[in-house]
Amino acid sequence: MQNTGEAVVKELVLVGGGHSHVAVLKRFGMRPLPGLRLTLISRDLHTPYSGMLPGYIAGHYEYDDCHIDLRKLARFASARLYHSPVEALDLAEKRVHCRDRPPVRFDLLSINIGSRPQTLDIPGADKYVIPVKPIDRFLDGWERLIRRILNSTAPFRIAVVGGGAGGVELALASQHRLRQELTKAGRSIEALQHRLVTDTAEILPSHARRTRTAFQQVLASRHISIFTNHRVSRIEPGWVHCEGGQSLEADAVLWVTHASASPWLAQAGLATDARGFVLVDDALRCVSHPEVFAAGDIATVRNHDRPKAGVFAVRQGPPLAVNLRRAALGKAPKAFTPQQNFLSLITTGDRYAIASRGSWSVQGAWVWRWKDWIDRRFMAKYNDLPLMQERQSATIDPRLAGQDALREISAIAMRCGGCGAKVGSTTLSRVIGRLETRQHSDVLIGLQAPDDAAVLQVEPGKVLVQSVDYFRAFVDDAYDFGRIAANHSLGDIFAMGAKAQSAQAIATVPYGKEAVVEETLYDMLRGALQILEDCGAALIGGHSSEGAELAFGLVVNGIAEPGALLRKGGMQPGNRLVLTKPLGTGTLFAADMRHAAKGRWIQAAIASMVQSNRHAAECLRRHGATACTDVTGFGLLGHLAEMTRPSAVDAVIDLEALPVLQGARETMRAGIFSSLQPQNVRLRRAVRNLEEAASHPHYALLFDPQTAGGLLASLPEKTAEACVAELRQLGYAQATLIGRVEPESSATAPIRLLAKVTSQSIGRE
Ligand SMILES: Cc1cc2nc3c(=O)[nH]c(=O)nc-3n(C[C@H](O)[C@H](O)[C@H](O)COP(=O)(O)OP(=O)(O)OC[C@H]3O[C@@H](n4cnc5c(N)ncnc54)[C@H](O)[C@@H]3O)c2cc1C
Repeated sequence: MQNTGEAVVKELVLVGGGHSHVAVLKRFGMRPLPGLRLTLISRDLHTPYSGMLPGYIAGHYEYDDCHIDLRKLARFASARLYHSPVEALDLAEKRVHCRDRPPVRFDLLSINIGSRPQTLDIPGADKYVIPVKPIDRFLDGWERLIRRILNSTAPFRIAVVGGGAGGVELALASQHRLRQELTKAGRSIEALQHRLVTDTAEILPSHARRTRTAFQQVLASRHISIFTNHRVSRIEPGWVHCEGGQSLEADAVLWVTHASASPWLAQAGLATDARGFVLVDDALRCVSHPEVFAAGDIATVRNHDRPKAGVFAVRQGPPLAVNLRRAALGKAPKAFTPQQNFLSLITTGDRYAIASRGSWSVQGAWVWRWKDWIDRRFMAKYNDLPLMQERQSATIDPRLAGQDALREISAIAMRCGGCGAKVGSTTLSRVIGRLETRQHSDVLIGLQAPDDAAVLQVEPGKVLVQSVDYFRAFVDDAYDFGRIAANHSLGDIFAMGAKAQSAQAIATVPYGKEAVVEETLYDMLRGALQILEDCGAALIGGHSSEGAELAFGLVVNGIAEPGALLRKGGMQPGNRLVLTKPLGTGTLFAADMRHAAKGRWIQAAIASMVQSNRHAAECLRRHGATACTDVTGFGLLGHLAEMTRPSAVDAVIDLEALPVLQGARETMRAGIFSSLQPQNVRLRRAVRNLEEAASHPHYALLFDPQTAGGLLASLPEKTAEACVAELRQLGYAQATLIGRVEPESSATAPIRLLAKVTSQSIGRE
């Protein structure tokens, strides 16, 4: 959680984590601008570095060698990271519309979303080709293609459509890798055929003749046939049809055509060129909207049109950072002229490369090593980040805020306590008005016609089940935090076997400008509301206040038949123990705070936390669960001990079987644990055979505090396996049987751990 402790007076929103924005984040991380809050909205959490992509496809690099971890970089820059594609812009309201979260307000906007291959509208292309962009989806398609080829014994023809540098490199890199894979599998490489198809008269039309000739020779020596002047008009399974009637056989088509722009930019009213790319001036500022900047493939610099290549996106990063800072301070931006000629280092798939600049060209294995050195140095700038001092509240530059805003900030610093700390009533009413709450028949008085208190109807014969949870934010996105907090609170209701009915929210929002407080409160409540409504529960009221840091919780109500309540004390000897979600949120978020977690680990943990326990609870009941609890702050062992005691039973846990979140083994191995872990470890006295179990790699997981963790339940032996199978079908992919219940032999140490280590148990990620 990025808590810089300073008031937010201006919002800079970066859309897309492309090659220019990574430089912007790095520079703002090194030299923050107090009062300017950065938010990065990105469809993907890793930016593939374009220069190393062909090497990755060829098999020379691992994923992390050539991908920039945007979560880590955003954390370094104290920027919030919202993981969602952007789908529209409202320039009048200054809001960015995302697919997976509420709109995001901005004062300054910068767009660096790259491009996608053109002409996917050719009949059959959207269905049958593997487009090279978006790259992460291409990489999935590429891995599937490798498996498909290895599983087939028939000859296999690959057509690469696009004769620019990208197409040529991809043809050579993919052939190199596939030949390696086939050889490894003891298969002949003769069955593999590559062909390069382009509508231009020559390959590499924008490169010098020498470079072109060199590549023609390489392609010929590798038996890759070139089809120039072939304009693809239709694709069908097994065939690429071209204008003029020629058709080529192709079992797979890789699509690397010219770049095209996402349509929502022009639809929003931004000035664009004829192809839909944002038209910017020499300072990278949109010519129609001075508060909007754009860089990389998605921008066309009006006075300096250049090819859509990563090298330009990289070069635009530093001037973009300078101009965003100047724009935030109300200063005139500085013009930047991109270079005319640039050095291209184009690889041939086999650790060999050809360098070209203007009419000059050289080649060799040494050129590949040179390129490899340059590329690794570039990646190190973004993946090996210096540890920065915790940011102190710094004086806000009056140019950033203006005198009125500065007066507002001084007023913020002098906010009262008690009820004076409440969020203002107009802000609150606006937030509630935007929330779109639904009518629920058992809510007699709720948010739709608010009064001093909410009034609920409870059917005769039923009971009200109630619980409360509240904690500080540990993720940057208030919307995700709202969803996680709601799930965490509802876990108690589901564990009791009740149906969620309603909730009251308790929110603390950091002091700030009214508009910033409103957005944060709205995002958090919107997240909570989404989870509540998905479970059929109503948000009926709450209390909000301003404070030092973001915190949120809910009082949740459930309705149950008194005889159907699932208590902790219902475990019976012979039962099996089921855990519905993987463990590890405590260690992962502790690592996140130390910049030691990979972005994808944190994202997977968030995905697990926003998954509701509702369907799992219903499934456990259908399969005859006799006892249940939700695994939260005390860790698996603490919550299990709370079940064995009232049940008067022993429990055996198979450490090897424990489901683990991606990355949690690594962070535990690195000795990173939640600050609550030491207290939880005191519960080890409940374990009978500590000595033999404590060296198992999963031992520490028993004490890891979980946020919005899964349900732990005991089930009859005869239904347990079917229950796990159904849980997995319901989307609880790591639901597992983790142990069994035995007759009580020790009231003080009722838990025994099975600790046999198998070879796969270490280093799975
Ligand atoms: C196979 C291949 C090899 C290449 N090799 C080279 C090379 O060697 N040298 C070279 O200079 N160029 C190369 N290129 C071209 C290069 O990849 C692009 O020019 C470069 O990636 C553009 O960078 P960018 O910063 O504009 O965008 P990108 O690097 O594409 O980044 C775009 C970012 O925006 C995000 N995004 C996209 N859409 C949305 C949305 N709607 N909402 C939110 N986020 C979004 C993405 O997740 C990503 O983080 C190659 C291209 C290909 C296909």
